[in-house]
Amino acid sequence: FGHKAKRGSVVHVLSRDVCGIDILGHVTTVRDFLDHKIKEFVLAEKEEPFYVANLDSIFERHLRWRTNLPRVKPFYAVKCNHDAAVLRMMRALDAGFDCASKVEMQMVLSLGVKPDRIIYAHTTKPLSHIKYACTHGVDTMTFDSEDELLKISLCHAKAKLVLRIAVDDSASKIRLSLKFGARLESVGKLLGRAAELGLEVIGVSFHVGSGCTGSLAFKQAIGDARRVFDIAKSLGLQMSLLDIGGGVSGREDCRVTFEEFSVVINGALEEFFPPGSGVQIIAEPGRYFVDSAFTLAANVIAKRVIEEHKDEHNDTVNNGLDRIMMYYLNDGVYGSLSCLINDAAHTQVEPYLNRVVESGEQRYRSVLWGPTCDSIDKVAGVCWIPELRVGDWLLVDNMGAYSICSSTDFNGFERAHVYPVVTAKTWHTLNLSDFFNLHQ
Ligand code: PLP
Repeated sequence: FGHKAKRGSVVHVLSRDVCGIDILGHVTTVRDFLDHKIKEFVLAEKEEPFYVANLDSIFERHLRWRTNLPRVKPFYAVKCNHDAAVLRMMRALDAGFDCASKVEMQMVLSLGVKPDRIIYAHTTKPLSHIKYACTHGVDTMTFDSEDELLKISLCHAKAKLVLRIAVDDSASKIRLSLKFGARLESVGKLLGRAAELGLEVIGVSFHVGSGCTGSLAFKQAIGDARRVFDIAKSLGLQMSLLDIGGGVSGREDCRVTFEEFSVVINGALEEFFPPGSGVQIIAEPGRYFVDSAFTLAANVIAKRVIEEHKDEHNDTVNNGLDRIMMYYLNDGVYGSLSCLINDAAHTQVEPYLNRVVESGEQRYRSVLWGPTCDSIDKVAGVCWIPELRVGDWLLVDNMGAYSICSSTDFNGFERAHVYPVVTAKTWHTLNLSDFFNLHQ
């Protein structure tokens, strides 16, 4: 199974906090790795949930981005998944970073990322976090109100400010402009106030909302940003940065593909910010990079068979009784599946067995629960699946976005561990030995 390339020669040059990684041999797939890991867990009588993070998937996404949006530099949104392997991979890919807080800035700076590769993209910041940004050279930050300008003028007068505007986000599952972003009507006043305070505003940002399902939202928002650039020009200000935010899905089964979004974005950039305009374009993608890279493995820790009196609308009957199988997994909505509660773009998950299911295998009405004592901790409502046994493993794909970052240890259930894997080809192509340690 797989191989661990040149372990000795890599480990000694790396600091102790570098996170581990497994390198897949030429014929080993991520699925093989998952199966192998599960066998290893069974042998060791371990049952904790875990993720496998496929870093090749992030690399493929990066290549797709470069091909389709060559003018737009991604600043990865750390909030979406701050796993150490993800951050290291994004650094190896030479991405910038969108940080929302002091801790996120610390995480990124500790990897040796230069502060000018960070945008502090939160419009309502604690004073102490602005001070941290100032003392650590993180100058680029967003704002959307006069009060924020006052705070920034007090503790980071040299900041390079980006005015976040509210845009039409009605096509998105998570609407952010309800909470953030200045209205176009107030832009002139805000720019004037910034000038009075001696602050430099270098550009405009927006976010069309997370889990965006309509590409035209980008066209409209880029047009709105153009209006702000024009207002600034009329006030004698020359802005040079456009930040088109995040919002694009990272799943292969999404309604609008990344390529379709790219056509609209490129068209709008050509129209409103053509290459000769002198405006640098960046974005803050989160879920686009990580969603499909993570697969969760969770264990069935308990089972109950409930027998109810026959429901006349349902013909699955056992001796006049309906059977409902209740399964309890060791991960749920307080853990990795927090996305079911907090990420409207992720309304359901489809766990599947890690073993082959025969087509003729009997299926039962089943409910999957998480491990905690809370009844909202439900992973999947009624579904028809083969009978499971305690100790069986279930897999869930597309678990990279807004999952691990918002999981808790409620009820004392541990957060899932992440096992990053990469192919030997990508390991060598990107010189990942400079960024990672090999798993022992
Ligand atoms: N930038 C900001 C300011 C955000 O609030 C978010 C998500 O909430 C993102 C970027 C990342 O968005 P997504 O993961 O949808 O690409």
